[in-house]
Formats: sequence, C-alpha cells, structure tokens
Amino acid sequence: MTTGVDTLRLTAEDALGLVERGEVSAEELHGAYLDAIGERDPELHAFLRTVDEPEGSSIPIALKDVISTRGVETTAGSKILSGYVPVFDATVAARCKAAGLTLLGKTNTDEFAMGSSTENSAFGPSRNPWDPSRVPGGSGGGTAAAVSGGLAPWGLGSDTGGSIKQPSALCGNVGLRPTYGTVSRYGVVAFASSLDQIGPVAKTVRDVALLYRIVSGRDPCDSTTVELPAPVELPTAERLDGLRIGVPRQAVALEAIEPGVRSAFEAALVLAEELGAHVDECDLPLSFEYGLPCYYLIAPAEASSNLARYDGVRYGPRSEGETYRDAVERTRDDGFGAEPKRRIMLGTYALSAGYYDAYYGQAQKVRTLIVREHATAFESFDVLATPTSPTVAFPIGDKAADPLAMYACDLLTIPSCLAGLPGLSVPCGLSEGLPVGLQLVGPQFAENALFRAGHALERALGLDLVPERLRT
Ligand code: GLN
Repeated sequence: MTTGVDTLRLTAEDALGLVERGEVSAEELHGAYLDAIGERDPELHAFLRTVDEPEGSSIPIALKDVISTRGVETTAGSKILSGYVPVFDATVAARCKAAGLTLLGKTNTDEFAMGSSTENSAFGPSRNPWDPSRVPGGSGGGTAAAVSGGLAPWGLGSDTGGSIKQPSALCGNVGLRPTYGTVSRYGVVAFASSLDQIGPVAKTVRDVALLYRIVSGRDPCDSTTVELPAPVELPTAERLDGLRIGVPRQAVALEAIEPGVRSAFEAALVLAEELGAHVDECDLPLSFEYGLPCYYLIAPAEASSNLARYDGVRYGPRSEGETYRDAVERTRDDGFGAEPKRRIMLGTYALSAGYYDAYYGQAQKVRTLIVREHATAFESFDVLATPTSPTVAFPIGDKAADPLAMYACDLLTIPSCLAGLPGLSVPCGLSEGLPVGLQLVGPQFAENALFRAGHALERALGLDLVPERLRT
C-alpha cells in the first residue's frame, strides 16, 4: 500500500489526524481503503458498490445501502430498487459530505433492513471478517464487516430492532443506535418509521461519538427530529465512579444466551465494578417477555404501509401486465424477496379490520408498558447492561430457513428500541475466538453517558479488535 496506512488498525480519529496534518491526502486515504476493498471484499462482500472518484477533503465513510446518495445507486438490498439512482442525498449523507467525508461506497444489508444476518440481501450475504463461514450479523452486516475488515474507517447503519447494535457485536465493532429523533431519516429507505434510527459504527467509542456529532441534530425535512439538548462530548474518563449499572434479571436469565457470551458479559461487569461502578439487578419483566412479539406486530405493520410505494411506476424495474393492477402485482411479486413479502402479509393482517384491536392495537399498549418499565428502571439506574446478542456470529445458513430463530437474534436489542432509547454496543471479550458485545442502554438523550461508560470499559478491556486471521 503506497500510503503505508494500516487500514485494519487505523481509527477514524487517527485518520482525521493524518489528513489534518497533511501527512496523507484525502485521495490517498480513499485509495488505501479501495485497495483494502480490492484485496478483501471479494471474500467479505461488505460492499454492494464502491465510489472510485472521491469528492471531499477528509476521510472516507461507508453508508448502508438504505441511505440515499445522489448519483449513486441505492437499493436497500432489494431487487425492487435495483437501478434506482437517487437525485438527492439523504440528510445524513449530506451532513457527511458537508464535513468533508468521502463516500467510499454503499454497504450490503438484508432486504429493506429486514433480517439479522444479511442473508436476506437480494445480492448475496456478507461474511464475517473473523470467520468468513459465519454471518456478520444484520441487517447492517455490510457496514460492520467493512469496519472490522479494515475496508472503511467508519460507517452509518440503520437500526429498527437491532441492525446497528447486533452486527457491531458480531464483528467486534462499536455501534450506536441513537435516541429516537436525534438523527434525521430524510432520504432513508423506510422500514418501520416509529422505530427506524440511523447511527454510527466504528472501531472505538470516540469514533462513534465523532460521527454522531456530525450526523445528529434537527432537520427541517424530518419532523420527528429534535436539537440535541447538549453537545456531543468526546469521552476521556477512564473510571466509572458512581455509575449505577442495572442488569435486567429477565434478560440475563434467558436460556438463549450462550455460556461463552454470558461469561464475557459477566467478566465485563466485574471490571466495571473495579472501575468504580455499582452493578445491581433490576426488573423489566414485560420488556423481555413481550418485546419480541410486540416488535413483530408493530414493525411489519408499519413496513406493510411503507412498502406499499414500490409499484414499479416510480422506482426500480417494472414487470409487464395486462392492466395497471396486473403490472403492479407482478412487479411486487418479482421484486420483493421472501422476507419483505412475509412482513407485508403479517403487517397487513395485523392492521386489517377485525384484527386491528387484537394485534396492532394490543401491541401498541404493550409498547407503552415497555416504555414505562424502562422509565421506572432509570429512576434507580444510569444505564442498563445486557449482552447485545445472545450468541456469537453463527454459520451462514444456520438460521436462514427458520424465520423465528432469526427473529430471536434481536431478543436483547428490541425492548429499548421499542422504548425509543439509545443503545451502545461495545466489544467486551471473545467466545470461541469470536467477538462478544455488551449493550449499554440509557435514558433518552443520554448518549454522552453511554460514551463515557463505553469508553472507560473499552480502555480497561484493551481488546485487540483486528480479526485474528487478518493480524500480521
Ligand atoms: N432483525 C430485526 C428485523 O429483522 C431488526 C432489523 C433492523 O433493525 N433493521 O426486523
């Protein structure tokens, strides 16, 4: 590599330093990552497409392919959007450009961000840099694989029920799902609008905070957004003195949690206590029992409505038909894969007359209880901690034929998403040589507190997060 830059180890913060000091140019850095992509992406398939001519004066970024990018095809991992080239930038893409970041490419995702492994991508799965026979998680597995494989210094993902946090955990990255409403979704392909959030994935907590600073804040084009109540702080503290960490009893009791994940998680809690935190159990009984079913009514219901717009008239390929109705039906039948179809049917059913009260209405009530349960927990705790994912990265094909097993990947990430709360996944150890993630959840707008806690743990743990097989 001409720049001598080690993309596997370089943090975004250090890359910014190199460019600012003039030691490496934006073009050289972009080129170094393209070289890494050329070398390793044929195996990993993190990217759906790359951008070879960088525009911008700073470091590169990878964007999940649900984020509209002007002049660069945006498919959301679906055939129904193939060939769609947006004529505008999503607000988050525009903010990255305004900060000088160069668009490295668009990363793979489960179709319409529906999945936990990227196996639902219409363009083939991505692979985990730690073990290419395993999934990188999903739906944002492309961004996660790109960051841990040294193909991008950082990236943006979207998280409806865990799609930033879970792949970050499975690939050994740090990922933030921000408080609902703090990052604009304007120009982002919608999945479930009351849940969708955009957020950063990177190698360190400080990098995540830096990127969150760039993309967050009110956007007049997304009426759900607000101005942050306080500026984003880059964490420096190495202690956790006085931090009250709650561990939801019902979450850690789940049998689905693998022993290796459990022991890495527990060791991290012991370390947190050594750093000055108080760790105690807390109760969120409804959240972990009903969170998953509640999500799988609300998210498909909203998806069935959001996905109604794909009719072959405005975007993507169109199938021929005798009548308009025929053409739309065929376009949707040919264009959507199995998972979006499943969700459209589930969601339409849950919203239909006669069933609305029994399913969708009921799920909304449960959601309110989940919101309240979290609010009560935060009367006694500053943050809640669980493993991010019950398992480490699983082999490709393991859960692909079993939707319920795939849905259960998000058992631990979904409740706080339903409650609109921020969640940070930080690597907390290895199990069977694969990364384990710790999820820290805070009250609304508590990102700075999550960054402080995550940073202190990250420093104390001192893990080498370059996938073992790629270390030289
Ligand atoms: N895996 C979950 C789902 O399939 C969450 C996906 C996401 O957060 N986009 O819905």
